[in-house]
Amino acid sequence: MSALLVDNIGELVTNGVGEGPLGIRRRAAVLIEEGRVAWVGPAAYAPAADRRVDAGGAAVLPGFVDSHAHLVFAGDRAAEFAARMAGEPYTGGGIRTTVGATRAATDDELRATVRRLRGEALRQGTTTIEIKSGYGLNVADEARSLRIAAEFTEDTTFLGAHVVPAEYADRPDDYVGLVCGPMLAAAAPHARWIDVFCERGAFDVDHARAILACGQAVGLGVRLHANQLGPGPGVRLGVELGAASVDHCTHLSDADVDALASTAVDWTSGTSTTTVATLLPGAEFSTRSPYPDARRLLDAGVTVALATDCNPGSSYTSSMPFCIALAVREMRMTPAEAVWAATAGGARALRRDDVGVLTPGARADLVVLDAPSYLHLAYRPGVPLIHQVIRNGVPQ
Ligand SMILES: [Zn+2]
Repeated sequence: MSALLVDNIGELVTNGVGEGPLGIRRRAAVLIEEGRVAWVGPAAYAPAADRRVDAGGAAVLPGFVDSHAHLVFAGDRAAEFAARMAGEPYTGGGIRTTVGATRAATDDELRATVRRLRGEALRQGTTTIEIKSGYGLNVADEARSLRIAAEFTEDTTFLGAHVVPAEYADRPDDYVGLVCGPMLAAAAPHARWIDVFCERGAFDVDHARAILACGQAVGLGVRLHANQLGPGPGVRLGVELGAASVDHCTHLSDADVDALASTAVDWTSGTSTTTVATLLPGAEFSTRSPYPDARRLLDAGVTVALATDCNPGSSYTSSMPFCIALAVREMRMTPAEAVWAATAGGARALRRDDVGVLTPGARADLVVLDAPSYLHLAYRPGVPLIHQVIRNGVPQ
């Protein structure tokens, strides 16, 4: 059996037992066997291994868990971004532009885009990524989007209810029927999750509830785009349905925050029913919008995750370190809260206990920084600090 020792770690973020909320250990080592963490402890007591990675006294973290990304698309909306930066408001309407380009693309073109963005994210420390459909919006193109996504991740999400496509503009009830019927039937074999964009201009709460219930009935887990562009019932619908995560959470009422806080349970107690609030500051950055109030959520005891929302319209970044820096600078999260949210928080948003932590038994997904501390991720924004990525125990 081949073992790999990551040795000479100056600061190890475990998100398990250790100092502070990140479970930090100093002068540590991690032993990896068969793609899993086999042992974590002081470097001085490290067991022998066939191979060794010398971290050189730098910080090591669990790989980032990006629980919200739209990578299956074609085309580019740089001109729309430029118009927005020149003062035009963001409405979500540009999604239809990407739908046209995606439908016209070949499988290989879509696959190449996913591969490029997945590689980009991996080089920036993302070892687990969720990938949504949502730019096909017909039976064949939603199914093939998910088929392609499943080549790159286990966490695939059916987002047929992203917007109502132009051909159904005056009969949204018919589109909901399509999503719940033949589209879901074609998508479900390739999906772990179902998601709806519950927002004015997209799907109202009754449509969202109906679609998510259909997905649950065939065994898909629920997640939701909610309360991004304005206040609304999306977050409470997510809590009502036991969603793993409600994403964006930019405009929240006290009732929304209370509902989320009421789901927070001790993760160690077994099957979680927590609904995580996943914040996507890349979207506010790229649409020049007010950021979600992370402090209010954290102070209420809500479990918070950070994700990129990587998509060609409203947040074309694949960088979790960038999101961490935004969360700290613009959303008043502490660096420790932001790093936890980008690792363990993302794992909870995907209801996974095998990633986002570096404890024995976890998947051996590690990031070696070119820095002495995780603090540098927010302290040195825009700097390529990801020195080495190990995924499933394999140096990348
Ligand atoms: Zn999104």
